[in-house]
Amino acid sequence: GAVQDAILYLDGITVSFDGFRALNSLSLYLEPGELRAVIGPNGAGKSTMMDVITGKTRPDLGIARFHGGHDLTALDEAAIANLGIGRKFQKPTVFENQTVYENLELALKAPRGVLAALRFRASERQRARIEEVLGIINLGRQQNEAAGGLSHGQKQWLEIGMLLMQDPELLLVDEPAAGMTDAETMRTAELLSEIARRHTVVVVEHDMEFVRALGCRVTVLHEGAVLAEGSLAAVQNNQDVIDVYLGR
Ligand code: ADP
Ligand code: MG
Repeated sequence: GAVQDAILYLDGITVSFDGFRALNSLSLYLEPGELRAVIGPNGAGKSTMMDVITGKTRPDLGIARFHGGHDLTALDEAAIANLGIGRKFQKPTVFENQTVYENLELALKAPRGVLAALRFRASERQRARIEEVLGIINLGRQQNEAAGGLSHGQKQWLEIGMLLMQDPELLLVDEPAAGMTDAETMRTAELLSEIARRHTVVVVEHDMEFVRALGCRVTVLHEGAVLAEGSLAAVQNNQDVIDVYLGR
């Protein structure tokens, strides 16, 4: 498709920290509704890429267009979130003393962590949405339990659910399967595939079984740039990728 059809278009994104290039002319093109896995060795620049997209880090060079319009690199984090870009960090940060249901209710009220939000109560339409999200994240049975008692995997799903409450068009999810059991990892791949039916999703992940289960296009980052892109099978057979992963 053409650049103006992309939901996200990164071109020549360069980020330096004290002269070290964490991103080195990174380019990426995402179609609306796409599910994309981003893999690459530690330090490849995956999280920094998400920092640039969400306005946490401003690049030295390059553009980041959302729907062919806004250059995200000129906007701050709040403005980018308001455009419909949501991010999940690696560590789950749920309100441990609130129930699962209350966590989803609280997520309707940004900014997170503000105590005033604790007094907020959802409207009927919002309650219907909470019920829907509880189904998507498979935590309906636990809705009245304190989030602190959930397993690590369930906390991750709850946080993904909290992100869904804000109905972002583009979701960025950083290493969701880290620390999960194999069963939780496979369930997370299913969950993200289901979410990608209505949202565009970028997932950073190390676990190759997880990426295989996603069954989507894969981008391999290395030293702050795209090394290869295509199906998992194609990138796994790419000689540059083989060399990098085997450390040659
Ligand atoms: P990945 O998520 O792929 O593991 P990161 O994007 O976190 O990689 O980091 C890419 C590189 O940039 C790493 O070498 C990291 O040490 C460096 N880096 C990231 N953030 C900063 C920062 N705030 N200051 C200095 N160096 C950083
Ligand atoms: Mg990272």
